Amino acid sequence: MTFVMDQTKLSRSGVDFIDEDFLHGLLERRTDSAEVRDIIAKSMAKQPLTVEETAALLAADTPELIEPIFEAARQLKRDVYGNRIVLFAPLYIGNDCTNDCHYCAFRRSNRAAVRRTLDNDEIRQQVLALENKGHKRLILVFGEHPRYDAKFMADCVRHVYTISEGHGEIRRVNLNAAPLDHEGYRTVKAAGIGTYQIFQETYHHETYRRMHPANTRKGNYLWRLDGVARAMEAECDDVGIGALFGLYDWRFETLSLVSHALHLQKHYNVGPHTISFPRMRPAQGVEIDERYLVNDEQLKRLVAVLRLAVPYTGLILTAREPPEVRREILAFGVSQIDAGSRIELGGYTEAGDSQCMEREQFQLGDIRSLDQVMRELLIDGYIPSFCTACYRLGRTGEQFMEFAIPGFIQNLCTPNALSTLMEYLIDYATPETRAAGEEAVRRELTKLPDSPRKTQLLERLRRIREEDERDLYF
Ligand code: SAM
Ligand code: SF4
Repeated sequence: MTFVMDQTKLSRSGVDFIDEDFLHGLLERRTDSAEVRDIIAKSMAKQPLTVEETAALLAADTPELIEPIFEAARQLKRDVYGNRIVLFAPLYIGNDCTNDCHYCAFRRSNRAAVRRTLDNDEIRQQVLALENKGHKRLILVFGEHPRYDAKFMADCVRHVYTISEGHGEIRRVNLNAAPLDHEGYRTVKAAGIGTYQIFQETYHHETYRRMHPANTRKGNYLWRLDGVARAMEAECDDVGIGALFGLYDWRFETLSLVSHALHLQKHYNVGPHTISFPRMRPAQGVEIDERYLVNDEQLKRLVAVLRLAVPYTGLILTAREPPEVRREILAFGVSQIDAGSRIELGGYTEAGDSQCMEREQFQLGDIRSLDQVMRELLIDGYIPSFCTACYRLGRTGEQFMEFAIPGFIQNLCTPNALSTLMEYLIDYATPETRAAGEEAVRRELTKLPDSPRKTQLLERLRRIREEDERDLYF
């Protein structure tokens, strides 16, 4: 059986905008240092790049051409985004799945997978475990199955927001799940979701067809490609896109991600909130075709080019990557990472220290604790942040892009990052991490110029320390 799509349910921008001949043509082009320099100058002025300009940066393949791109990405990150890194954790709710994606251990033909859907009590145990580590932002992850419909997901989201013990609470719940119709998005939006993430996996049609059999829901390329546009039309204006790197040519996928971002920008006046670039990981019973695997150097290049191409968009680097790779790639403009992640169903209370392939979707590369990751970030000069202020104050969409408001980062992001960091240090950090964190807060405060906002921030930090107040945000 092939799933027939009801064309009337697509978004108003619902066409297949991935023009493969055009993109493949762009991958043939060459570039030189003058062109690379001009394009970099445009990015540094915070102008999004065209697909053609992105292709020119991807064509840079000698150290003389690549190094300036790396340096510009580092500089854009430092000067424009500051040194905040937002932390979150994934929570797998259920791995029943009617799809058969070749790369995923949850595919329906994998009979060895242990299937499970957490009930409300189990969700509660997982969320409490996460809160007790210090997490404030979660992404709930679901397989694609009729039982995980929009109402089910919305109920899970509402339930998570009610779970609280001591100072523990989840302040933002994002979703990574199958594409919905407009009504479905309205249902999950009403439950108070943050970002709705859908990865296209591969934008290359033939590869998509091979990876996602036609007799599955996910087999419909256009329904998935159009997924986040429908979300935007249904008032979920905070969406995340991504590609699973390793299925097809990494440069093609990078150009496609930029095309997708520009498509959303053109039709909805706002691009995606985030882009993810997961790399293929070993998974139970999955034979990986090695032809398109992306090595560390290529990953660095694609992240640096994305940073320059879409200066307004957050970049997410997940714990699929090993610690050393994460440490290096962070500098290229990543804005969010997960930490202390477990992706086995029930993994936050049941998994112990090792991974169990029968129970997880793929193998993680970084299973360090949140505290260990926090400490490394602090020592490396970052400010780990659990801030959720923008979404809770309705600062989403076009007019609230960080760049649109002068002083946004200095007046809002940095103070909120420091107060959420201070909460973490007091409530959850080990003594070593707390010492590194106190030092980082001092360092950042000396960098902030005197202003009424700084005075307010100092007063809030005092209230957090001395009066046990929490959740103070600008
Ligand atoms: N089932 C939903 C879907 O497919 O959209 C939810 C997402 S799935 C549980 C999360 C993401 O994990 C997928 O979109 C895919 O990009 C990624 N993934 C699947 N198998 C993977 C693997 N072997 N290695 C790395 N990432 C993988
Ligand atoms: Fe199911 Fe998602 Fe895995 Fe595909 S990637 S098999 S849809 S869980």
